[in-house]
Amino acid sequence: MPRPADSGRADTVDVAARLADIRRRIDAAAAQYDRDPDDVHLVAISKTKPAAMVAAALDAGQHDFGENYLQDALDKIQALAERDIAWHFVGDIQSNKTRDIAAHFDWAHAVDRFKIARRLSDQRPEGMAPLNVCIQVNIDAEASKSGLAPGDVAELADQMAELPGIRLRGLMAIPAVRDDFEAQRRPFAALRALRDDLNANGHTLDVLSMGMSADMEAAIAEGATHVRIGTAIFGPRDR
Ligand SMILES: *Cc1c(COP(=O)(O)O)cnc(C)c1O
Repeated sequence: MPRPADSGRADTVDVAARLADIRRRIDAAAAQYDRDPDDVHLVAISKTKPAAMVAAALDAGQHDFGENYLQDALDKIQALAERDIAWHFVGDIQSNKTRDIAAHFDWAHAVDRFKIARRLSDQRPEGMAPLNVCIQVNIDAEASKSGLAPGDVAELADQMAELPGIRLRGLMAIPAVRDDFEAQRRPFAALRALRDDLNANGHTLDVLSMGMSADMEAAIAEGATHVRIGTAIFGPRDR
């Protein structure tokens, strides 16, 4: 199956064709690794891309979108307020962003501090369902990446389970870049094992947010429930 050529120009990217291609890759990986394809949710990462490209993806049947620059995201959320969209905040969260994230998003994938979790819970508006939250794990212990060390996850998970305005759904990781497929699988397997440990200790975590454009199949092989795909759908970004 030929892939559409990469293009730096947003308006030349055929979002519908690329989405269809990604969905075919998800279905093929699910079939190969004995997964139900309905258990693998595609979060289209539209950060830095214009609302018109999000609308094109919506028209092609996409429902979940991920962002990590807050102001850019809020502009799109407002522009597309009439549409039925689940918005995922996938970036790091500083204290001064929690109020807007709690009010305008359905998910936060990268929580790694109790202080942030508590603010999101306190600031979730009355009448909205609890915010779905994942704990970000620094699965390869990289100095440059955020996320908790695996050994610190259980304590935060226990604390977060007490917060009424959020619902702890699972774990998220961004492993180091590796080219080899078997090597890509290892950190994802470690994240899954950590999730299984938490569930053996009373949690009911159903989400593994893992896999991006370059390592999606390896993540699906290891149990990803939410793959976060940007470049392969919307084309390359400047940042
Ligand atoms: C940008 C981003 C992605 C998407 O990455 P691609 O390589 O473009 O698919 C996924 N997850 C997070 C947290 C991101 O910031």
